[in-house]
Amino acid sequence: MTCTWQAQARKISRVIIDPGHGGKDKGANRGSTYEKNLALNVAKRVEALLKAKGMPVTLTRRSDVFVSLSSRAAIANRYSNAIFISIHFNASTSTRLTGVETYYYGGEGKKLAAHVHLRLLSRLKPRNGDTRQRKELAVLNKTRCPAILVECGYISNYSERKRILKSSYQYNCAKAIVDGIWAYKTYR
Ligand code: ZN
Repeated sequence: MTCTWQAQARKISRVIIDPGHGGKDKGANRGSTYEKNLALNVAKRVEALLKAKGMPVTLTRRSDVFVSLSSRAAIANRYSNAIFISIHFNASTSTRLTGVETYYYGGEGKKLAAHVHLRLLSRLKPRNGDTRQRKELAVLNKTRCPAILVECGYISNYSERKRILKSSYQYNCAKAIVDGIWAYKTYR
């Protein structure tokens, strides 16, 4: 960006949506609740909302298939002016843990994470939620564009899992992500 004083909005040409896990990589599961399926559901809702706004979208997977972490980053790296959003659900052996978490890598990732996280907190009203940098996450550090990873709640907590399984919760996750992307696109 050479003329920052006149740049009001960021140029985003495409949003790469990365539903976590898939195929043999199940991610977390509790009973019949699988992280990989929840992540794909939310990703497809994000895709629909973004396409309704005229934003080009690429999903790193559209079905229950395995995609390596480096392939996911490589898909994002095909495009210029893209942003990358990886969607996950959390689990812990500590069943008390609840809340949403947003991870990022790099300065632009941090700004994108802040916008998305704020909307997640206001829509989902979790008891806990924080953003932090995670430099070791391959999908973030191999991706050249601004990249974040959203953990949309804990399936290991009984009451949070019940909320997560509701269509309205999954819609609110998607809407928060899209509103966050739009705020990042619009404001410095
Ligand atoms: Zn995951």
